[in-house]
Amino acid sequence: MTVGTEEGAAPAPSDFIRDIVARDVAEKRYPQIVTRFPPEPNGYLHIGHAKSICLNFGIARENAGRCNLRLDDTNPVKEDVEYVASIIADVTWLIDGWADQVLGLKPATTEPYHASDYFGPLYDFAVELIKKGKAYVCDLSPEETEKYRGAPDRPGQDSPFRNRPVAENLDLFQRMKAGEFPDGARTLRAKIDMAAPNMWLRDPLLYRIRHVEHHQTGATWCIYPLYDYAHCLSDYLEGITHSICTLEFEVHRPLYDWILEQLNLPRPLPHQYEFAKLNLGYTVVSKRKLLQLVQEGIVAGWDDPRLPTLSGLRRRGVPASALRRFAASIGVTRYDSVTDVALFEHAIREELNGAALRRLAVLRPIKLVLTNIPAGETLSVEAVNHPADAAAGVRPLAFTREIFIESDDFMEVPPNKYFRLRPGGEVRLKYACIIKCDEVVKDAAGAIVELRCTADLDSRKGGPNADRKIKGTIHWVSATACIEAPARLYDRLFTVAEPDAEGAFKTHINPHSLETVTARLEASLRDAQPGQSYQFERLGYFTLDAADARPGQPVFNRTLTLKDAWTAKA
Ligand code: ATP
Ligand code: MG
Repeated sequence: MTVGTEEGAAPAPSDFIRDIVARDVAEKRYPQIVTRFPPEPNGYLHIGHAKSICLNFGIARENAGRCNLRLDDTNPVKEDVEYVASIIADVTWLIDGWADQVLGLKPATTEPYHASDYFGPLYDFAVELIKKGKAYVCDLSPEETEKYRGAPDRPGQDSPFRNRPVAENLDLFQRMKAGEFPDGARTLRAKIDMAAPNMWLRDPLLYRIRHVEHHQTGATWCIYPLYDYAHCLSDYLEGITHSICTLEFEVHRPLYDWILEQLNLPRPLPHQYEFAKLNLGYTVVSKRKLLQLVQEGIVAGWDDPRLPTLSGLRRRGVPASALRRFAASIGVTRYDSVTDVALFEHAIREELNGAALRRLAVLRPIKLVLTNIPAGETLSVEAVNHPADAAAGVRPLAFTREIFIESDDFMEVPPNKYFRLRPGGEVRLKYACIIKCDEVVKDAAGAIVELRCTADLDSRKGGPNADRKIKGTIHWVSATACIEAPARLYDRLFTVAEPDAEGAFKTHINPHSLETVTARLEASLRDAQPGQSYQFERLGYFTLDAADARPGQPVFNRTLTLKDAWTAKA
């Protein structure tokens, strides 16, 4: 959906990373600002990634730079081509029309970069490190390696293979590559300092043996570089200037710098900067946890509209512009915190309020018979369209003897200040006229079957009673001219703000996170358009379900209610 006002008149965001970039621009440190977004294709992107995407692409767009989309595919075991496709689709969607002009793809293609594109040069750099005496082949098992590492308060111990001659290291590394050794038999390690207070500098692994095929490079390689080694060099090879990541990588930064320094690469070198991850209330943002929800069938898939994945949010009807607005509103800091989900919902409402077409729908109907309108007669009334509507300023609504109203717009014994319908009371039907409830018809069990009312037809627009004042106005649809369609009413997936506080997030699943009702809708919604948001008046924002709706057979997802019911309840 093409909505987007958040970047209109708003001032460019400002934060500590943008301040650094501005300084580097002022000092002309780089010919161009180049950032990257480097997801690992081991799951779908989520709202936390959206924060990172908006930051990296935002900086590129504000500085006439470039932001490379790079799949960080160094671990062939956990990765999947399904994830690759979803990542490309999600990034493209999120930046479309906003920062697509700075999207760095491989020249003259629609292909993103891959860390695996650099397996050749990464191997050559490793050979160079060996020649410089900065890396060695180690035969310790994974368990022994771990033991030799020591602990944060206790120095590690040198590997017995640490002082292998360069020639032997070169020979063994070449044979590792040739497939002579089984998984885990040997590794290539950086030769730094086994007593370094920073554990990441205790001769970290650079390469390990994995006899598995890779989705990009097939069977070419059986040794794969580790993240820390591949990342800084991929950044260098792509000409990245600002390598922006989340705080857990802060302790890796000395290693990032060490590797680049040892290789005596021509400058300018990339630099790493860290910011705090987004954590969002009432949900989990971790691919590992999201994967559990998907695999255990707690949700229907990665694009389940209750998940904070970008594909789930899109299917739910959240526009990309709302995610960008949200990212701009929360800013970028170095403090870990949990962001109130109300901020996200506010950003969605701000976007949808301007973009959604207004329509009438009833989710939980009770039937109402207007006894003074003859059966079979259709009185046409005019609904006022929202400015977002490309159609004329008004549209006709069928007004008939039998209509539906929302069941909670009627109460037999209402509390004080209840201004909707009650026995003997009056209410205005939006766009139509005032009605009076004469009789409540019940079945033998005492359940309400229908309400019999009289319509004051003179209170229609232009009529002699049009100005008659009535406190309550409710929505309605014609019972005989409406259409029926499933409406999926989503609520928060978890019942508590920090579901993973004790590491047991699955014990806090909200059992009422999805309710499906048969909605009664004004007939024009038969032609609802995919990607368009609709405000069902007084109820909330809805959109067609991209997976299940068919032409002429709509299925609606509720994006959000109009007001924050949770805060109101509390
Ligand atoms: P997860 O914890 O969900 O598995 P990850 O960090 O392993 O995420 P990557 O694919 O490695 O996922 O992330 C790609 C980029 O997105 C990284 O630069 C990472 O720092 C950033 N990122 C991941 N999660 C968040 C988050 N919650 N908030 C902001 N940025 C994030
Ligand atoms: Mg990761």
